[in-house]
Amino acid sequence: MRLKETELYLGDNGRCFCGRSKCAGSTAFYTNRDLSGQKVEELRIADVLSTGLDPKVFKCETCGQALLKKSKTAESPKDSADLKPEEV
Ligand SMILES: [Zn+2]
Repeated sequence: MRLKETELYLGDNGRCFCGRSKCAGSTAFYTNRDLSGQKVEELRIADVLSTGLDPKVFKCETCGQALLKKSKTAESPKDSADLKPEEV
């Protein structure tokens, strides 16, 4: 599956990027693996919160897209509810 451009991902060396092909790089975008072959990890708000970190510190290093892009932030711990594939 390809990356979602509204989501943020962590790649090699903790690089943070969104799922846009120009930000993730085509390798990560199409294969979900960074140039080093390491699988990129989807950054979920619930996961960030569970580590005690502030989700606001995470944003795409290229375009600046933040993890908290919508007003609905940490309201739903059950993240499967709003996993509707709404591609733009
Ligand atoms: Zn980006």
